[in-house]
Amino acid sequence: MKKIGILGSTGSIGKNTLNIIESNSDKFELVYITAKTQVKLLIEQAKKFKPKFVVIADEDKYSLLKSELSKLDIQVMSGYDSIVEIAGLKEVDIVVNAIVGSKGMLPSVSACKNGVDIALSNKESLVMAGDYLYSLAKKSGTKIFPVDSEHSAIWQCIQGEKEQNIQKLILTGSGGPFLNRDLKSFADITVNDALKHPNWSMGKKITIDSATMMNKGLEIIEAYHLFNIPQEKIEVVIHPQSIIHSMVEFIDSSVKAQLGLPDMKLPIQYALSYPDRFVANFDNLNLAKLKELTFFEPNYEKFPSLKLALNSLKLGKTYPVVLNVANELAVYSFIDNKIKFTDIPKIVEKMLNRHNPIENADIDAILDIETDITNYLHYNKLG
Ligand code: MG
Repeated sequence: MKKIGILGSTGSIGKNTLNIIESNSDKFELVYITAKTQVKLLIEQAKKFKPKFVVIADEDKYSLLKSELSKLDIQVMSGYDSIVEIAGLKEVDIVVNAIVGSKGMLPSVSACKNGVDIALSNKESLVMAGDYLYSLAKKSGTKIFPVDSEHSAIWQCIQGEKEQNIQKLILTGSGGPFLNRDLKSFADITVNDALKHPNWSMGKKITIDSATMMNKGLEIIEAYHLFNIPQEKIEVVIHPQSIIHSMVEFIDSSVKAQLGLPDMKLPIQYALSYPDRFVANFDNLNLAKLKELTFFEPNYEKFPSLKLALNSLKLGKTYPVVLNVANELAVYSFIDNKIKFTDIPKIVEKMLNRHNPIENADIDAILDIETDITNYLHYNKLG
């Protein structure tokens, strides 16, 4: 039995992970689940799966959670610090980090310090602290497995291949809901428009990131860390159908692709079953039903966020931290109708331009940058 912990069990990745565990109850044992605020769903999940520990970040929800689970043999905790702490619980074989945004970074640090393997959905961890996390992982023996569909695809394509034979990674992106929208009307994009992703059903933050294509930019930085590959060898191609999840080109010009329906259950299950594969309890791909698979170059004029991400990775140091934090705050400002869709990349660019980078930043330096940007944007009523 593989012992699993889930950080963020009430979100879309968390719910899919529970679904995988339920379908493979002979192979997986659930040790803990955590949530930020969705206490009702967390209670429901705890009653059904009976993990050893349940943690809620929102302290105001503790008493309700505690009383609802009082008849069960479950240890109940609350507070963000408890989530960070439980992420390092050594009795777990693999922790699924499905926390949204920069709050996922410290739990990843905790797992890496304690030698706990991570099935990583929280790409922001790697964007902000990739070098630092891998330096910890090297000491502790933690392995980081991708859950992001593109990175899972690349990971599957490179199995059995030599690192020196990889020519380039080709990340596919759907292009989001505004692929064919006229740039002239981008300033009129509403939150509802941006929340309508054509293929994937996901949380709000990543759905907006997909609409600006910042998501693809963050994924380039994620791939750079996960596969230890130079930026020049990572390419993006737009593929609106989201059937080819990504590709790898080798030095002999052979290209391997991984295909599947746009359903996160497969990459989640693979991260948990690796190096094995388990029978799918979800739909299979039917190639004859697909009319066409198309590909385009990304449009940087329409999607400046993608360029900002590429530049931050090129500049290195702590620029990706700024990119991620400024983007996250701008995305939530847009969701709250405080700024326009087109202001998101403008805010990110502004924050990148005023940044004084730090070399070999440790976690405190990264957190200081986060605080500084949060204060600046709050003070200027931008975040
Ligand atoms: Mg992805």
